[in-house]
Amino acid sequence: MKKYNFNAGPSMLPREVIEATAAACLDFDGCGLSLMEISHRAKNFQPVLDEATALVKELLSVPTGYSVLFLAGGASMEFCRIPYNFLEKKAAYLNTGTWANKAMKEARLLGEVVEVASSAEANYSYIPKGYTVPADADYFHITTNNTIFGTEMRYDPDCPVPMVADMSSDIFSRPVDVAKYNCIYAGAQKNLSMAGVNIVIVKDEALEKVSRPLPTMLNYMTHVKGGSMFNTPPVVPIYCAMQNLRWIKAQGGVEAMDKRAVERAAALYGEIDRNKLFRGTAKEEDRSLMNICFVMNDEYKELEADFLQMATERGMVGIKGHRSVGGFRASCYNAQTLEGVNALIQCMKDFEAAH
Ligand SMILES: *Cc1c(COP(=O)(O)O)cnc(C)c1O
Repeated sequence: MKKYNFNAGPSMLPREVIEATAAACLDFDGCGLSLMEISHRAKNFQPVLDEATALVKELLSVPTGYSVLFLAGGASMEFCRIPYNFLEKKAAYLNTGTWANKAMKEARLLGEVVEVASSAEANYSYIPKGYTVPADADYFHITTNNTIFGTEMRYDPDCPVPMVADMSSDIFSRPVDVAKYNCIYAGAQKNLSMAGVNIVIVKDEALEKVSRPLPTMLNYMTHVKGGSMFNTPPVVPIYCAMQNLRWIKAQGGVEAMDKRAVERAAALYGEIDRNKLFRGTAKEEDRSLMNICFVMNDEYKELEADFLQMATERGMVGIKGHRSVGGFRASCYNAQTLEGVNALIQCMKDFEAAH
């Protein structure tokens, strides 16, 4: 049976990206060895890293003066590296959910953290607005897409200080004004590649400004100088990212990804709003195009398990909601197809007709 992959992360990748990566794992570049068993310093691997770097810069129109890094450790590692590298006295954070809290927790170990606003009291169902970022903060940290709660900032806010953004679950889904940020980071396994690599876009002149001594691996400058090869990088996830960046470019770049995301989300939210059984959990204006969260209306709550079973029987994978929201979550990252979304919509319509 055809499977429709709505996993929140690790998540769906274009079939051709998976096939190209699998082929390189058997025989990389016709050299008779697997990508897994060659040196990262082999002459034929450097071009992979170079192309991936160049594609990141091209697709996001990264201005000069920024470095692109491919690092291990997951986005959670950047929660810690960010304050190490940028927090001298005080940092501002926007509390929009689980990941933002984890980022703040690491920053508190190193300095004062100002939580400028929070939507915790409403189970993070909206993005706070009208907050003031202190002008003396070293940076303002945002989480552009809240993977668990299904809210998203699909814009780059204006702010009196440089921003730092966790874009783990919506990077390459829209154009970004990189110049507003000192650092953008993302774990790869939502919208870019398999797990195992982070992409970090960092403004060179913002580095080495803090007074604390930095452990070597936590210092972004180590990796800028080392060209992401200070130590052995995760070559297979980087290769997979390179293939996916090629795919994004061939589809028309982030503008095309944005347009598709809008189409998919309009179709699915349209059905959620129309269907008498369901309702969305995020405030309409802050709805994520990447993680579409919905529950059954109170009077139909006991039908959730039945719907999940019907969807599963029709090949839908990964639509069970995160435990902190409940209900359902359909993750619609770049590789998601309108066909997949329409299959879910049909399932919702048929389930409604049966009840
Ligand atoms: C998944 C996720 C993370 C954590 O990523 P890891 O690579 O597992 O550390 C952080 N931030 C956001 C927004 C995420 O979606």
